[in-house]
Amino acid sequence: MDDSSEIGDILAAIGNERRIAILYELQQAYRHDESSLPYATLKRRVGIRDSGNFNYHLQQLVGRFVFEADDGYALTYAGRKIVSALSAGIFTERAGKRRLDAPGTCYACGEAALVARYEQERLYITCQACGEEVFHAPFPPAPVAQRDDRLHAFEVWSRRWNALAATGTCPECGSEMNTTLTTQTPMTSIGNVSHRFLYTCTNCWARVYLPVGCAVRDHPSVIGFHASHNAELDTQPLWNLSWALSCEYTTFDSDHSCVHLRIPIETDELHLSVDDGGTIVSVAGVG
Ligand SMILES: [Zn+2]
Ligand SMILES: [Zn+2]
Repeated sequence: MDDSSEIGDILAAIGNERRIAILYELQQAYRHDESSLPYATLKRRVGIRDSGNFNYHLQQLVGRFVFEADDGYALTYAGRKIVSALSAGIFTERAGKRRLDAPGTCYACGEAALVARYEQERLYITCQACGEEVFHAPFPPAPVAQRDDRLHAFEVWSRRWNALAATGTCPECGSEMNTTLTTQTPMTSIGNVSHRFLYTCTNCWARVYLPVGCAVRDHPSVIGFHASHNAELDTQPLWNLSWALSCEYTTFDSDHSCVHLRIPIETDELHLSVDDGGTIVSVAGVG
């Protein structure tokens, strides 16, 4: 990155507790329908009495993280992204090594013996009966520490992340993602399939290996197939869908150019074929 010096200067602007307090107060205001705060109100809420001192810190933020609107000061998109990361606890929260029972059954052994644990900003669903690492994905610390429905939130979060990646849009930065079909089994993979899609951001660090079932879980044809059979899908965590994680439901063309997934409901099946660029090339109901 050739502009790292400029970025260093930009980040230095927020390396101060009073400026962080200004960003937090503007976020609090935004949450309570105050899209901007007048100078005097912001100064009072931040609690800096000295005008010169307050103004100095405010001006360090204006331009990149804060902008001056007609009736006061407000967060820019960059300012909102910074306070979102702070509020997610990415820099500060200690969620601890939590361990709790998880709903669902293990695709490998069929036992309802799943437990969740949180380590290094990643949530793992593991089977206590057979040891299979059923599912895992990154998740911010704040919801793990604060939400009672943390596993549900984690499941929805990681599913949406996957769905964005599967459409070729980076869930972290919005840039284009490249898609390849690979037989690699990296440490961070999930499922026991032989082939996975690898989604790699062309701009940031984001990359993920997904079995085809995880990549198409939120596709309209999959949701429609379940709806037409009155089969609950939203109440099923992703790690409880065997067809999303187990090799039993996938086949591959011998030249690795296409992967085929079957999703069974009672006596019917939905068949999807996805090419090596991640595009769904055929959908068929069989029953
Ligand atoms: Zn198991
Ligand atoms: Zn990205």
